[in-house]
Amino acid sequence: MTTTTIRLPAAQPPGTVLGTAPDSAESADAYRTAGGYAGSTGPGELLAHLAASGLRGRGGAGFPAAVKLRSVRDRGNHGEHGGHGLRPVVVANGEEGEPGSVKDRWLLRARPHLVLDGLTRAAEVTGAVRGFVYLSDPVAGESVRRALAEHPPPLPVEVVETGHTYVAGEETAVVRRIDGGPALPAAKPPRPFERGVGGAPTLICNVETLARIALTATRPDLRHDIARGTLVTLSGGPAAGAVLTEVPYGIPLRSLASRHGIHGAAGALMGGLFGGLVGAGALDLPLEPVELTAAGTALGCGAIRFLTPGTCPVATAADAAAHLAAESARQCGVCVSGTAAIGDALCALAGATASPDTADRLDRWSRGLPGRGACGLLDAAAGIAGSLLRAFPRQVRFHLAAPCPVCAADVPGEGRRRLTVAVPEVAVPATTASPAPLGPGPTAPLSVPHPSPSASPSAPPAAPPPAALKGTP
Ligand code: SF4
Repeated sequence: MTTTTIRLPAAQPPGTVLGTAPDSAESADAYRTAGGYAGSTGPGELLAHLAASGLRGRGGAGFPAAVKLRSVRDRGNHGEHGGHGLRPVVVANGEEGEPGSVKDRWLLRARPHLVLDGLTRAAEVTGAVRGFVYLSDPVAGESVRRALAEHPPPLPVEVVETGHTYVAGEETAVVRRIDGGPALPAAKPPRPFERGVGGAPTLICNVETLARIALTATRPDLRHDIARGTLVTLSGGPAAGAVLTEVPYGIPLRSLASRHGIHGAAGALMGGLFGGLVGAGALDLPLEPVELTAAGTALGCGAIRFLTPGTCPVATAADAAAHLAAESARQCGVCVSGTAAIGDALCALAGATASPDTADRLDRWSRGLPGRGACGLLDAAAGIAGSLLRAFPRQVRFHLAAPCPVCAADVPGEGRRRLTVAVPEVAVPATTASPAPLGPGPTAPLSVPHPSPSASPSAPPAAPPPAALKGTP
């Protein structure tokens, strides 16, 4: 696991998330002094600013934040459109399962008030009467509890912890866990905005998105800069470890790499694991969600692992697929067998034991498997295989013909170790005040039973907002 360095933007302009206190948890006083908790922007006005800015969610799906907020508000509007008359719930989703991403855990550790301010704003917009902060990182949990005690929010907010897995942050998994079940994806529909926690319309919002909502409420004049700034976790450099930084959309991927000490990049693993592999030619693309998607890749949660000249793309693909296979929640038969098959085939390719038809099989799976699991994990594995074939055909042919010296130096498929980056340390002072009153705990009985995913997953849903596997579109 590499260490992670935080690089603040050169001038630290207003409206940035990284702020000025990256090494220790920001106190309520410091947050208030910086203008936090003081924005006078009303809920309707804030929603209009978010719509005008085009702020997109930062959990991976990149869905427009204003649309998502409005959907929950409308569902909860006295039972309108089938909301069952339950008042909405808001959830700050800080569980990032992508091994190459650290931004959400760092944000909860270092800037908990910014996230809680955003959660409160989202509650005002949606009419929510109850909130949750969902996470797996114990340091982040301590930081959030301390922040809740320092500055009790106007609605009950509870911290719900989960195990750290790839799928625990997927939005239906979040709902199931908060309702006392396992943190595993459920069949859709219903989506959480239709029927979520306790059956209520529920906003599941990534913590960076909430931070940007809070910043927009405080500085609506900077709404466009706030919406176009984004946290990225960059890894793959030689000895420098990973970098967590904040950049504006639009910067070319190649400049992003070299600016952070990664020179001569030959490609990248994009979006966590969900954007797949891209070759050197794609590094001229701008860091821009829409353009990256149009180019067949994805920004996802902003985790980018650059391939240096000494990195083998086949080994990276094998690492990624093996990691996904190990993280399958084993609920959908097609995922259990499909993800494992992709992982095995890529590991065999890296280990020089692949059969001659391996490339054909990978190609077939990459086209036939997406969309057949209850969540996006299978899609990610299929995307890794397909993107490797498209971006690095010469290297695939080479691996079928002869052992690769780079792969031979490593054990193929040990992706968890090689792909995981460390969350930067943040000092969290001990809590001194009593915590705010909380609602029922996460093990409270389910108000509404949730469907479990079946062996034959549901068809793709038609209504927004879409489900977001953390770190996946
Ligand atoms: S697709 Fe895989 S990871 Fe997702 S719910 Fe099904 S079995 Fe679990």
